Amino acid sequence: AKSSGRNRAVAFAPFMEQDVYKRARLEGALKRAVREGTIIPHFQPLIDLRTNSVYGFEALARWELQPGEFVSPGEFIPLAEETGLIVPLTEHLLRLCCAEARNWPKHVGLAFNLSPVLLSDAVIGLRLIRIMSEEGFSPTRLELEITESSVMKDYPAAQKVLGDLMEAGARIALDDFGTGYSSLSQLSGFSFDTIKIDRSFVTAMNKGERQDKVIRAIVALGSGLGVKTTAEGIEDEEQLAYLRSLGCDIGQGYLLGRPMPAEAARRFLQERLGHPVP
Ligand code: C2E
Ligand code: CA
Ligand code: CA
Ligand code: CA
Repeated sequence: AKSSGRNRAVAFAPFMEQDVYKRARLEGALKRAVREGTIIPHFQPLIDLRTNSVYGFEALARWELQPGEFVSPGEFIPLAEETGLIVPLTEHLLRLCCAEARNWPKHVGLAFNLSPVLLSDAVIGLRLIRIMSEEGFSPTRLELEITESSVMKDYPAAQKVLGDLMEAGARIALDDFGTGYSSLSQLSGFSFDTIKIDRSFVTAMNKGERQDKVIRAIVALGSGLGVKTTAEGIEDEEQLAYLRSLGCDIGQGYLLGRPMPAEAARRFLQERLGHPVP
């Protein structure tokens, strides 16, 4: 350590120790959680903005440490990525998702987040396909959400993984489009089906004409490329009406439906369809 930093190190020590301690505790708990299966998917509706029907659900991981105490995926996914636990965690989550989603009507899809880290593991595509087949869920109903960093790290491996999955019929969505993690450089090298407009653009929308124009441009880009556009983070009627007027295909956000446990997602579907879901 630098001698000049000594006082600062002392000042920060209790803080850092706590952090390291918390991290070690969390890592141990995460390992157990993956083994014991206490991390589960919740499901957030994706709504077809033209017909108002349920296009699908995005699976969002939820870890309940103890009843009522949740750890956010923003906290444990990065840890899982660093520790390699992301592989068993993803396989576990996909299994649970398939077991649930196979009960939904066939036209209702499943959007599933695929960590960038997994895309540098060339065999992961085949393993995910195998899980879907074991669980009786057709890959044609799956849309994988990926971000840019994934593709950049190990291009041949990423090509192989996405190639395998697309060959099996899965679709690909560029998540968080427009942010540093997903941008124009991705458009040329990879084939994909959907652009997901990052929530930050939707949130900023009612704040000025310029933001509106950015969204309008992304929707136009999607239509020019012949891919669907999904807007995430829709929280009010004004945002919804504007996105609809632009011809944005799919909407997601608290206004349209929050992430919810599997049983609630079934009820949500039932209400929309007017008939029971098994
Ligand atoms: P994401 O893929 O961009 O997911 C959308 C996030 O926005 C979710 O946060 C969702 O709950 C939140 N959200 C949806 N609608 C609204 C809205 O109207 N307003 C606001 N303020 N937020 C909204 P969540 O569930 O905390 O997930 C955070 C991130 O963690 C996800 O961002 C995704 O990158 C990652 N993640 C979640 N589940 C998984 C998973 O199973 N695997 C991997 N690899 N990553 C996951
Ligand atoms: Ca996502
Ligand atoms: Ca997103
Ligand atoms: Ca995001």
